[in-house]
Amino acid sequence: MRALVAGGAGFIGSHLCDRLLADGHTVVAIDNFISGRPQNVAHLADHPAFTLVDHDITKPLPDHAELHPSKPFDTVFHLASPASPSDFLRIPLEILDVGSTGTRIMLDLAVRDGARFLLASTSEVYGDPLVHPQPESYWGNVDSIGPRSCYDEAKRYAEALTFAYRRVHEADTTMVRIFNTYGPRMRIDDGRVLVNFIVQALSGQPLTVHGDGMHTRSYCFVSDLVDGLLAVARRGGPGPYNVGNPVECTVLDLAEQVIAITGSSSTIELMPLPAERAGDPQRRRPDLHRITTDLQWVPKVGLDEGMRLMIAAIAAELDAVD
Ligand code: UDP
Repeated sequence: MRALVAGGAGFIGSHLCDRLLADGHTVVAIDNFISGRPQNVAHLADHPAFTLVDHDITKPLPDHAELHPSKPFDTVFHLASPASPSDFLRIPLEILDVGSTGTRIMLDLAVRDGARFLLASTSEVYGDPLVHPQPESYWGNVDSIGPRSCYDEAKRYAEALTFAYRRVHEADTTMVRIFNTYGPRMRIDDGRVLVNFIVQALSGQPLTVHGDGMHTRSYCFVSDLVDGLLAVARRGGPGPYNVGNPVECTVLDLAEQVIAITGSSSTIELMPLPAERAGDPQRRRPDLHRITTDLQWVPKVGLDEGMRLMIAAIAAELDAVD
């Protein structure tokens, strides 16, 4: 397969590139490094089946031999978007652009080539959910003007656009809704909870738990997530499919686990919920019935095992900075 990975230098995108190459495919990654990092794919620089194109997908495709119609793609994976709540505050317009214009340009490319198109959507389309756990049939509870709306609504629009291309152009589309994912290659300044807690624990600072720490999330290790993406891409069909880990834990619990695994002497500091977090989802857990029934996909990596791998990666990165 000749695959295009939009967002290929990002956290999940770079792991997907690794996996596609290991499986013998040819990969063209596009990234503008707004949240992705060159170091995530630096180890692939000399790989004969890998090309990295530095480009913003909200702009027309550049004149590049690997993007020419004479070399059509079989699959277009669209993972390009900043995805951390700190990005929602910093670059909301860019997030809206990549979810709308960027998605349209990637869909046009897939139609041009007759390629299968996989949209990486998000559990954020469920907003602050009133149904728990969240099945794909749930329409969500999204604040259309709050601090998260740039991401939530961009992804909801991207889903609508993808289904419109399917109906109007008979495009071969599919989609996943990705729940909280963690693992090596998340930026240490990403701002998401596990990165914050691990950096804080390793540097002896207090772990900053928002509110009473009773919010819940369900954390999926990145290798499981990539397995899920590939299972959905192979099967095709409209989706969407939830992809995530169904083991739910509170943020306070997570902080305690990070302290236990790192052996850190850090304390836990309950701090007021930051103002921009007021509308955050209180609980989140995927209902995986659809993907487990249709694709027999189940996550395999437990939180303890996955956290150890992520802690080792962050420790190495912090050591390199020192
Ligand atoms: N959170 C926290 N301390 C932090 C960062 C996040 O308590 O330093 C909480 C946050 O309020 C939310 C949960 O952790 O309840 C998950 O936040 P994250 O930014 O990881 O991702 P989200 O799932 O909200 O997009």
